[in-house]
Amino acid sequence: MVLCLVKFMKKTYCMLIIGIVFYSCIFGFSQIGSLSNLYKSSQESSISPNKNLENLKNFPKESSNGGDLSHYNLSIIFDNSTSSVEGNLTVDFYNNDPVNFTKLPFHIYLSGMSYITRLGKVEILNVTKLDNPNIALVYDVYPANQTMWVYLDTILNSSQRVQFVISFNSTIPDGGIDRSNSHGDDYDESRIYKFAGFYPMPCVYDSFDGWNTDPYLHIGDPFYYDMAYYNFFIEAPNDFVIAATGKLEEKFNKGVNIFYHFDPSYPVREVTFSASKWFLVESTLVNGVNLSTYYLPKSQVNWEINALNYGIKSLTLFNDTFGVYPYPTFNIVEEYTEYGGMEYPCQVYIAEDVDSWYNPLYWLEYIIAHETAHQWWYNLIGNDEVDWGFLDEGLACWTVIYYGEIYYGDGLYFQYIPYIDEVRNYYASEGLPSRINASVYEAVNEDNYVFTAYYKAPLILEKLRITIGNSNFISGLRLFFEQKIYKIALLSDLQQAMEDIYGMSLDWFFFPWFDNPYLPKYNFLSCVYNASENILEITINDLNEPLNNYGYSQQIRLNIYDKSDSIIYSEIVWINSTTLISIPTTITPSKARLLYTSSVIVQLESPDIYYIESQIQIVNGEDKEKIISGFFMPIIVIISVITLTLLIFKKLNKLER
Ligand SMILES: [Zn+2]
Repeated sequence: MVLCLVKFMKKTYCMLIIGIVFYSCIFGFSQIGSLSNLYKSSQESSISPNKNLENLKNFPKESSNGGDLSHYNLSIIFDNSTSSVEGNLTVDFYNNDPVNFTKLPFHIYLSGMSYITRLGKVEILNVTKLDNPNIALVYDVYPANQTMWVYLDTILNSSQRVQFVISFNSTIPDGGIDRSNSHGDDYDESRIYKFAGFYPMPCVYDSFDGWNTDPYLHIGDPFYYDMAYYNFFIEAPNDFVIAATGKLEEKFNKGVNIFYHFDPSYPVREVTFSASKWFLVESTLVNGVNLSTYYLPKSQVNWEINALNYGIKSLTLFNDTFGVYPYPTFNIVEEYTEYGGMEYPCQVYIAEDVDSWYNPLYWLEYIIAHETAHQWWYNLIGNDEVDWGFLDEGLACWTVIYYGEIYYGDGLYFQYIPYIDEVRNYYASEGLPSRINASVYEAVNEDNYVFTAYYKAPLILEKLRITIGNSNFISGLRLFFEQKIYKIALLSDLQQAMEDIYGMSLDWFFFPWFDNPYLPKYNFLSCVYNASENILEITINDLNEPLNNYGYSQQIRLNIYDKSDSIIYSEIVWINSTTLISIPTTITPSKARLLYTSSVIVQLESPDIYYIESQIQIVNGEDKEKIISGFFMPIIVIISVITLTLLIFKKLNKLER
């Protein structure tokens, strides 16, 4: 999700104006030319065989945990008159955990989402055994935390399967701008029905929390799902265009409805669909992936060609950089939301609101790049977004830095406010701690979570790249992807992959930067020049060290100046918590300065500080120049005058003789 965009939009910068002119003049035109393989299509024509996938047919057949995966058949009938679906979820649950279960929980999120006129709801009708629909299973619904539990009629042992069918009706919120909603009107061709998190969503069991049954939370994207195989069957009125997770395998008329069968072909964490009578559709093939955009007529001016082009750029770059996107389809779909966009497997949503933002194409590209990055960081590699939500968000935000660097030659291109400035000044402006490695429950407020996940996390990842080098960092991400694809990852898995590439422990980097609540705040504890030994000794400490669990280490340029402000020493030095630096110099130093260049992460008191400095104390022998000018000079002058006078006298005497 791009949660912070609303906040971003309130801040307009000159930088953006330059960006627009640059962007629209140079790139807008050049990339239209690159779309030679673009074709507009109806939904039918977007069904094309994915040749590349033939080679990957058996990949991956095994689950993340060394076993098999669950299979779900989700079958729904969409009724636009009630903004609802009636559905069956056929569950073939595989117990990939080393414990036995007698009941299984599912999220039923819709009632937790925002609405205007009508609350969303998931109504469970019954749960029956798959092999005998006459046998009902007992279930409980807990509206307060939006979960249901299905009681099994047998113990489900580890590595065993259980099958049952949940029948349900789901109604999405009418109005509202949350993750599911029906919004807009038909008279102006703007209505969209968006179904996400709308069916009983299987909870995840893990060794940290047991069953993760957190309710729908309004901070972050509190979603956490295991990979599973899905077949997605949708019946919808025949005047609707349907955008859904997966490849369209089958489509036929069924009375006034059309029946669709979507299949992602590879495991996904969830499925979603959106329906509108008004969607315009564009499609193209990118490395064998059928990429499609779905947008409203009113957004055509921005979306046409552009959205597809941003999708091509994103898929191509991320595929080349991180590893192969294995699915046959990827959809970029317009939505109504208060966020900039939202990611789901094989289908992302982009806010209709972007049309009204200053420089909409800039934002459209930014959000498409961000949500597409989530295909790698969220779907292909999953994480518990309640406890480690910063992980996929941080990686997605960092990926957009990289996208800006590759396509626009500037990693700051999509940072309208440079992350470094936000991060350095966060404490001064908010007075809050900002530990990245924290759950959404530990965030003081929504902004605090947004700050750590969307600003600080990508900045720390960028600092890691600068520290270990671009090639090691990209190789580390590729290894991370290879090791954790289709699995659930932790921050420690990312660290392990980086260490495997870098060849040494990175505890010194990961622990302080991800776990400390406060950034370093450096101070010159002492600066003393021993004039008799010609040694300058500088001690720098971190005033925030007592507040943190781990000491920071980072490289910072240290400059030493003489009294005329000329630099007599300039080196990049390691500052490790309290650090003593000895510098031999025969030139008397006057002041020391630590330069806060763009890679130095520190806590600042105000935005316009670019260094800290200290005067240098001289000991053991006075300053030689001072001695000459202050004490010896008059004596020398007197002696010289006397000597000169004597010489003149002598000369005069000689002449007289
Ligand atoms: Zn995101």
